[in-house]
Amino acid sequence: MKTFPMFLQMAGRHVVIVGGGEQAAQKARLMLKTEARLVLVAPELDAELQALVAEGRAEQVSALSVEVFRGAALVFVATGCVGLDYAAHALAKEAGAMVNVVDRPALCDATTPSIVDRDPVVVAISTEGTAPVLARQIRARIETMLEPSLGELAALAGRLRGQVSRQIPQRARRFFWDWVFNAAPRQAMARGAGREALRLVKERLNGAGAGSVQGAIALVGAGPGAADLLTLRALRLLQEADIIYYDRLVDPAVLELARRDAERVFVGKDVGANSWPQDRINTVIVAAARQGKRVVRLKSGDPGVFGRVTEELEVARAAGIAVEIVPGVTAASAAAASLGRGLTERGQTDRLLLATASCKPGDPEPDWAGMLQPGTTLAVYMGVQKAAAIVARMQAAGAPMQIEAEIVASASTAQERIIRCPLAELPEALQRAGITNPAVIFLRWPKGLSGKALAVAAA
Ligand code: SAH
Repeated sequence: MKTFPMFLQMAGRHVVIVGGGEQAAQKARLMLKTEARLVLVAPELDAELQALVAEGRAEQVSALSVEVFRGAALVFVATGCVGLDYAAHALAKEAGAMVNVVDRPALCDATTPSIVDRDPVVVAISTEGTAPVLARQIRARIETMLEPSLGELAALAGRLRGQVSRQIPQRARRFFWDWVFNAAPRQAMARGAGREALRLVKERLNGAGAGSVQGAIALVGAGPGAADLLTLRALRLLQEADIIYYDRLVDPAVLELARRDAERVFVGKDVGANSWPQDRINTVIVAAARQGKRVVRLKSGDPGVFGRVTEELEVARAAGIAVEIVPGVTAASAAAASLGRGLTERGQTDRLLLATASCKPGDPEPDWAGMLQPGTTLAVYMGVQKAAAIVARMQAAGAPMQIEAEIVASASTAQERIIRCPLAELPEALQRAGITNPAVIFLRWPKGLSGKALAVAAA
């Protein structure tokens, strides 16, 4: 190591930044994260730095001198002028300061690392200037591993340290902290439930929760297929899961991202031999959480869109198990992106309807004709098998049959296919192209286009 990482004490100290332009402002932004006072040395400051002085967050000194650098925790020099940089560096060294001159490595006692900031948890990454792009990649990966609330959890742990040392015997302490940072408290905090996290930790400290290891359930959106359409939160939960129950439509590429030793259970909730009834799914996810497992119930797209989350939420809540929904990219969003346009278009389609063709057995057929109205984008899920019936209903109600139907199958995956046809020909077109689910069928009826105008446009 040519350089050695240390964390500098900044509280009650000051940092000097020489320069009044953008580079100086960059360093000022970085230093504002710390508790140090800022001293800006420049005859003129740009608007951003002036504002800092006006708000009392920094002090301006116009002229360079040895004195200004004395006792500084750090000095940054960023004047943009070689001569001035050298002069400021020499004065700062004379004052015995630790100096960083922007873009002049030869004049640097210290360099700033790439930082992942979950204050008070801070990760600093350096490649000693050999590979800045690599440092950025590493940083991006660490960012995905550490949820935004992690700092709050660490701060909470810090406040309870003394009490934990008094109340928990030393040999059990590590186990206790493992639980705090791995299990229910961390999950509660990640959900934004800081008070619940505190309550869990205190209960356990006071012996109440002792012995009753409590798991949690997350109903996680796997997105439409492409693994990089997963949310960071989904990714983190997959990497922490003990057990994952997944649906037929969840892409294998998404499961690849899960923790290697997480158990994976295919519940294939769809027609087919391996199909699990919903009741059984409800029972097993609760049972697993009761054993203290971190359960991920992975559902395609957004779990809240035709994903039957209600029952799973209810059984978890009834069992007193923490449960959360992690939204995902729904199929219609991915399908519209594949078509290269938005789901809505100002002035044309101001209304977006997501509808499923697969309802509860015994329910009346959806009002397809009522849904297809001027100004609407209608996205039909699970509609391939029902296409003939849908079109027949629309036709019977006098809907314009020239409206274009656009079908996106397996959106965002390598198997993606797009076909287009007039509404009247939808069933045949699907059959001819051999399209099966998963597919989204879009029907768009732009505002102001009457059935007649559409017929003319189509002709
Ligand atoms: N919760 C899911 C929908 C589940 S219902 C979501 O938000 O996307 C299953 C239906 O979703 C499929 O029959 C199909 O209509 C649609 N679907 C799911 N993944 C899809 C994909 N990659 N491309 C097109 N349609 C998809």
